[in-house]
Amino acid sequence: MEEQALYGARMMQPGLTAADSEENSLRPQHLEDYIGQEKVKQNLKVYLEAARRRGEAMDHVLLYGPPGLGKTTLAGIIANEMGVQIRITSGPAIEKPGDLAALLTNLQEGDVLFIDEIHRLSRQVEEVLYPALEDYALDIIIGKGPSAQSIRINLPHFTLVGATTRAGQLTGPLRDRFGVLLKLELYSPDELAQIIRRSAGILDQPITPEGAFELAKRSRGTPRVANRFLKRVRDFATVLGDGVIDQDVCLMALRRMDVDELGLDELDRSLLRAIIEMYGGGPVGLETLAAALGEEAVTLEDLCEPYLMQMGFLTRTPRGRCVTHLAYEHLGLRPPETAAPEDSGQQSMF
Ligand code: ADP
Repeated sequence: MEEQALYGARMMQPGLTAADSEENSLRPQHLEDYIGQEKVKQNLKVYLEAARRRGEAMDHVLLYGPPGLGKTTLAGIIANEMGVQIRITSGPAIEKPGDLAALLTNLQEGDVLFIDEIHRLSRQVEEVLYPALEDYALDIIIGKGPSAQSIRINLPHFTLVGATTRAGQLTGPLRDRFGVLLKLELYSPDELAQIIRRSAGILDQPITPEGAFELAKRSRGTPRVANRFLKRVRDFATVLGDGVIDQDVCLMALRRMDVDELGLDELDRSLLRAIIEMYGGGPVGLETLAAALGEEAVTLEDLCEPYLMQMGFLTRTPRGRCVTHLAYEHLGLRPPETAAPEDSGQQSMF
């Protein structure tokens, strides 16, 4: 049972794992194949068309939203639609200013440089990035002490696409250098069902509409989770069913993977339970909660909270996190007689 719980918990992580190595085959290549995020798509279409008509590189783009929502995919689409190459790296991978200089000087005119987790760039690296973004130039200091000289190298006009789970963690000067800020939202079950059907088509896997919807409902608004479920449920359909993913196979497989009917995993449930059992339903500060669960605060904030808030189970207040009556009901617990003041006003938001 415990092993199943762990398996279930891992299945739900929207971060990349080795099991996602096939992910590239499922990535849409063009904007028209990118499902959902209508507002983002409509605006992006205009910016791309404008840049194409002017024959210029597109302005720098910042994509923000929880992991697994399609930021890397969108960066690839931007490059594709502009007919240029994409270079992919991440904030922690660029350790020294020299690493960034090497990346920038190897770009071709118009190329897209994608930096994932851009909020994790070091201060020194960030400072090299500023003139590159603003003037397409690199300032290099040669020599030391009084004889040191600064020389400027011109760079090709490129587009930086930065991705972050939280725009708030970016320094002001860096954020201000992005001309386009796009926020990705969690997907609706209908959109996820479309994504699952599209992926099943690419994998040549028969799936019924009910099966697709069952998986969609439990994918916590996240395409990466949806695709991962699809692949695992395909295994159950192949070995224990007749090869078709229908609702029955989905229900059986998801039960065995310890995924509950709303897609909550063990960590989500322990988070809710901890607030209820240890802090009377809240409010409780994020750091205190993380320490109580033995987790990093950032894990709770990035992986659990967006979905729990979307489901109306959790609210953030100035004094800390609170659970709602819906959370009590979902866990089969009796809500307290009077709701916490933070609770009542916020539920209607969902
Ligand atoms: P992020 O960079 O935000 O962590 P990714 O771009 O790596 O997320 O997306 C994860 C997976 O989800 C990709 O394999 C891609 O196939 C799928 N995906 C994401 N967004 C969409 C979408 N809008 N339509 C179809 N598939 C999507």
